[in-house]
Amino acid sequence: MSVLDFKEIPEAHVPNGLQDSFEFFARECLKFIGYRIITDPDRGADGGVDLVVEERRTGIGGETIIRWLVSCKHKASSGKSVSAVDDANIRDRVEANDCNGFIGFYSTIASAGLAGVLGGLKGKIESQIYDREKIEGALLHSARGLEIAERFFPNSLAEWKAESPKPAKIFAGVPTLQCKVCRKELLEQDDNGIVSMWQKMGAYKVGGKKHFEFIFWTCRGRCDRILQQSIRERDKTLIDGWSDVSDALMPTFFIKWVMSVMNELHSGDTYSEEAFDQIKEFLLQIFPYVSRHLTEKENGRVKELIQIPAFLGGLGYDA
Ligand SMILES: [Zn+2]
Repeated sequence: MSVLDFKEIPEAHVPNGLQDSFEFFARECLKFIGYRIITDPDRGADGGVDLVVEERRTGIGGETIIRWLVSCKHKASSGKSVSAVDDANIRDRVEANDCNGFIGFYSTIASAGLAGVLGGLKGKIESQIYDREKIEGALLHSARGLEIAERFFPNSLAEWKAESPKPAKIFAGVPTLQCKVCRKELLEQDDNGIVSMWQKMGAYKVGGKKHFEFIFWTCRGRCDRILQQSIRERDKTLIDGWSDVSDALMPTFFIKWVMSVMNELHSGDTYSEEAFDQIKEFLLQIFPYVSRHLTEKENGRVKELIQIPAFLGGLGYDA
């Protein structure tokens, strides 16, 4: 799925003072990739040249400098590919500008026809295409690349960040929740597993108050079953309830949980020393994940959850 919406960069040849935005983007992007900029984007008639850049190649035979003619084509609003007619006479333009190679810098893709023309030039001049996918790949994998992407694609980046939540840097260490049974890091799995809370069964409650004995987080399935079995052998007076860890990673669910723990404590329910340490540990470890906006998917899940009266009850509201 593509992240960058190239329509965020204004079209060329629109007289609003921003006509060269795509060329300036190409300049920043190629500089970031490692090319040296020889001629800058120019507002005049470009004669088929938008930019000239240099690449230094170091090999056993010494240093070679390749001069590339860069042609920028911004067709994102129509979404059409760049054809051999859009980028014509490539070899002549490369030679007329004392270059050795051709770079097509496109906000869409090269048409099959153009790719065929470039294929035919093999052995005469070098050529390469930076299309939308290649540009995106180059920018999204480093901090410096992301800075450029953020400047030219502010909306795309804001959306992408909200949809790819990373833990906020709040504590010195990296958040960690290891499965109690197999020690796998649950926060790094696609399925973050479950957290189970073990409390006294009704008949063993003192004064009708809840008492939590253990709180554990494990992988779903096998590890959870192994843990259940071992607790049941150890203490037959306990019963477990569980939640998805991924639910707890959602800001709304998280604060609901904090509220329900506070309400329980206030009403006289109790936690063993171990269970209380564990619930605090759990909430601390997931906090860096919840200090952020909701993703689209989570928005839907929260809507679902608040249909359940008990959910709002935990937030301290009467549903
Ligand atoms: Zn496990």
